[in-house]
Amino acid sequence: GSTIGILGGGQLGRMIAVAAAQLGYRTHIFAPEDSGPAADVSPNWTRGAYADAAALSAFADSVDVVTYEFENIDPSAVDTLARHGLVRPGAQALRVAQDRLAEKRFVCDLGGLTAPFAPVDSLDDLEAAIETIGSRAILKTNRMGYDGKGQTRLSEPGDAVGAWNAIGRQSAILEGFVTFAEEFSVIMVRGADGAVRFWDSPANVHVDGILSTSTAPAGPLIEGQVDQARALAKQVADALDYVGVLTLEFFASADGPVFNEMAPRVHNSGHWTIEGAVTSQFENHVRAICGLPLGDTGLAAPRIEMRNLIGDDVAAWGEILSDPANHLHLYGKHEARPGRKMGHVTRLVL
Ligand code: ATP
Ligand code: MG
Ligand code: MG
Repeated sequence: GSTIGILGGGQLGRMIAVAAAQLGYRTHIFAPEDSGPAADVSPNWTRGAYADAAALSAFADSVDVVTYEFENIDPSAVDTLARHGLVRPGAQALRVAQDRLAEKRFVCDLGGLTAPFAPVDSLDDLEAAIETIGSRAILKTNRMGYDGKGQTRLSEPGDAVGAWNAIGRQSAILEGFVTFAEEFSVIMVRGADGAVRFWDSPANVHVDGILSTSTAPAGPLIEGQVDQARALAKQVADALDYVGVLTLEFFASADGPVFNEMAPRVHNSGHWTIEGAVTSQFENHVRAICGLPLGDTGLAAPRIEMRNLIGDDVAAWGEILSDPANHLHLYGKHEARPGRKMGHVTRLVL
């Protein structure tokens, strides 16, 4: 049997490991923590720093393919990995997707629509960016942000100092605030042979910067913009010679789909595919990185709703299970801190 190496041991790694096990693969996690949600299902776990070239090389040598659930890994570390084994998706995808400025430039060069943006590396830069973009804007750190962390909203020019301090005075991007009615994601998989499949694009609702629900199929506004968004996503994947699941987030605006960000991995807005699609994003990710044919991405029910269980939401798990339409997923996290993703529930509406 072959072994899949996964960088990162959170819930995404856990769900990749479940899919891998079903297909007869073993998994080996490499993560900076002692343990995590993936430890319950992955037989092997190595604790190590993502910057430790020697440890990464040994890890790559010990597995058949390396993938990741966490994209914020130093590109030089990924280059190290790539010298010792097969890394899918590759270093180029990671380089682009872990840097907001790089990913927006990349997508603009391919003809995609984004919010107006400007690089910000100082308070002077921020004040100049507000002059051109306007003060209805969001300042985001270029790297490491997730679940709305590392970003702050501005509404007037006087907010510059506070915003610059709020994100910790680090390399950032100022984005004009996009007016949109709905948000959606394109979740796609590209095989080692370049074959591409898309799942239905869910409508995503965020609360306090964190994904709350994903519903498929989406309504007419999103459906009318999906083809254009998919075409862009395919261009991105082809340009990066991408292998695996790739997710792009969009705003459905009056001007069409506005690209927000991409994730070079399985994505929270695709968790509904475990029960709601013929083949889940996790299984197709494993199939793709292992060079296997891709599975059918069609819907398994007329309507599917995924809801994240964040912090204390998880206390309702018993009630959730009492409705037979619900599928409960708990990530095995012990402490229900506010804002922490503890699990999710997928509901098939027949
Ligand atoms: P994720 O957990 O999805 O990785 P993140 O921390 O990377 O989140 P973003 O996706 O950039 O953050 O932003 C979170 C949410 O904030 C978006 O889904 C959207 O609702 C809102 N948002 C972000 N950028 C803009 C913008 N330029 N205009 C309007 N709303 C925005
Ligand atoms: Mg993000
Ligand atoms: Mg996002």
